[in-house]
Amino acid sequence: CTCLWRQQSKSSRYLNETIAWYEQRYVLNRRPIKRVGGKGDFAQPNKYVHEGRYYVGEAGGLQDCMWGFGMRYAITSGVLAAKSILGECDYETEVRGRLVPLVRTSAINRFLMNRVGDRGFKMVANHWMRDQEKKGDGLAFMRWLYKPGIVWSLLWPIVKLGMLRRKRLADGRTVHRMPFRKSLSRDIWEPSVRAVEIGAQWDAIRRSGVKTSFGESDA
Ligand SMILES: Cc1cc2nc3c(=O)[nH]c(=O)nc-3n(C[C@H](O)[C@H](O)[C@H](O)COP(=O)(O)OP(=O)(O)OC[C@H]3O[C@@H](n4cnc5c(N)ncnc54)[C@H](O)[C@@H]3O)c2cc1C
Repeated sequence: CTCLWRQQSKSSRYLNETIAWYEQRYVLNRRPIKRVGGKGDFAQPNKYVHEGRYYVGEAGGLQDCMWGFGMRYAITSGVLAAKSILGECDYETEVRGRLVPLVRTSAINRFLMNRVGDRGFKMVANHWMRDQEKKGDGLAFMRWLYKPGIVWSLLWPIVKLGMLRRKRLADGRTVHRMPFRKSLSRDIWEPSVRAVEIGAQWDAIRRSGVKTSFGESDA
């Protein structure tokens, strides 16, 4: 698995290099060669049901903007979508009522954390540890942090404007999305000989008609 956090072009060169590294150290059986992947989406759409499609989990931008956790969102939204299809609830209403406030709070937390920097983050982490020792429960602080309170609600328009970017999707929906960080000069490097060979192998397979669910550019 390769995870990229900044704007990257030709993202598969990272996977080529990773495979080359592992091949040198371990016996890898990677046949048939298949590449799967996706783009983590920290985006809030204006609709969660559109043209008969239910957008669940990451496809609906339902994940935590602060820590990247999304499994619980994925499972909860999946269950809600299934219930909605069975006529037991309205997916759009449930997601907006139960999940969107948490995603928004996570975006606000991310916005605040971006501002306090490493030192501020350490202070928060230390406070969290002390709170855990005192209460014997590390989740108490997290619950407080994720409670969508009045201050957080007031901050939301600022966060939306200052941190998220509005984008119109091909299907007609609009999203407010957390953009990738800009690439750095150290993202420019020469691949190893073996990584180039692995890339060529993959190109040959792709030319034979194999498709991926993700593009080469993550910008
Ligand atoms: C490195 C890493 C660590 C993480 N750690 C945590 C963690 O500790 N806790 C946590 O809660 N979350 C974590 N997450 C986030 C979490 O994994 C995701 O939010 C969650 O798996 C999203 O589930 P999903 O079902 O919405 O999407 P996915 O798990 O991405 O599933 C989507 C599936 O659809 C497939 N697909 C895509 N396009 C197509 C297509 N056109 N046709 C057919 N199939 C397609 C993909 O191959 C994929 O298998 C982590 C994520 C990463 C990358």
